[in-house]
Amino acid sequence: SAKRGGGGAYAVFQQYMECDAADQVTLQSDLRLAVERGQLRLHYQPKVEARNGGFIGVEALLRWEHPERGMVPPNLFIPVAERFGLIAGIGDWVIEEACRQMRAWADDGHVVHVAVNVSALQLRQANFVAKTKSALQRHAILPSQLLCEITESAAMEDVQATQSTLEELGKVGLFLSIDDFGTGYSSLGFLRQLPARQLKIDRSFVQDVDSNNDARSLVDAVVRLAHALGLCVVAEGVETVGQQRALVDLGCDELQGYFFSRPMSADRLISWIDDRGAAMTSCADDSSAA
Ligand code: C2E
Ligand code: MG
Ligand code: MG
Ligand code: MG
Repeated sequence: SAKRGGGGAYAVFQQYMECDAADQVTLQSDLRLAVERGQLRLHYQPKVEARNGGFIGVEALLRWEHPERGMVPPNLFIPVAERFGLIAGIGDWVIEEACRQMRAWADDGHVVHVAVNVSALQLRQANFVAKTKSALQRHAILPSQLLCEITESAAMEDVQATQSTLEELGKVGLFLSIDDFGTGYSSLGFLRQLPARQLKIDRSFVQDVDSNNDARSLVDAVVRLAHALGLCVVAEGVETVGQQRALVDLGCDELQGYFFSRPMSADRLISWIDDRGAAMTSCADDSSAA
């Protein structure tokens, strides 16, 4: 089959974001091994301040480099992990690894705020908050340095089950971000109940923000709504200078996307921060000299 063809075969799946039952069974056993053998990695994508491009923090994104098949995208293997009961273990690893990395960066003189993606099933574990708190304590990281991203649809999926966990997170001092916002049809009342600090506008709206009036109006409305509720607004998937300008005009607070940087390894992030800091300083020098 195409899957056995090696290298680029998963590109096919990436396109359709799903695979049949037999593929899923193969994937889940490969994924189990990958977890045991430590083949998962986190890459980090910067978020910058909309107004001045200053570095704010990163989103941690899971990477699975399959020994024969190359990079398997998370949109493909996270649903498999959820279906086959692997997501709690993987989620624990993500939080542990993010905390370990924050500590390593801090020891190296860089305080980096990290956002991790958390799945609905992870949130439903009774001990999720306790485990997260203990990972933070073990690495001496303040809760305010870690942000939990949950998708709007995940937050809505099982409001009763997640509500108490989300409230508990708030009590521990962990900030919450509502990911892929605009795709989940949540109500105003629901949003107000969540202990969230941030909304991330889904990439599908960002894509068209400078070319389509409906997308622009939607972003405009979300920014106003978020600000009225005291939430910070992040636009994800910013790829062009046109999108950047439109999002700044509309009052977005933070931007993230290939236009600034692709997700990268922990080491490369530090060079990126240093280079960017230097570039921004020299820009400031240029303008004062002019
Ligand atoms: P997400 O949380 O919405 O993450 C943003 C996705 O958009 C990432 O894809 C990122 O690489 C991609 N992206 C960033 N900027 C751009 C851009 O300018 N253009 C385009 N076209 N894409 C951009 P990625 O890494 O493939 O992750 C996909 C999804 O997988 C994530 O969407 C998230 O829902 C899930 N995921 C990733 N890591 C984890 C994890 O550790 N745990 C859980 N539960 N889910 C994860
Ligand atoms: Mg996310
Ligand atoms: Mg997102
Ligand atoms: Mg997304």
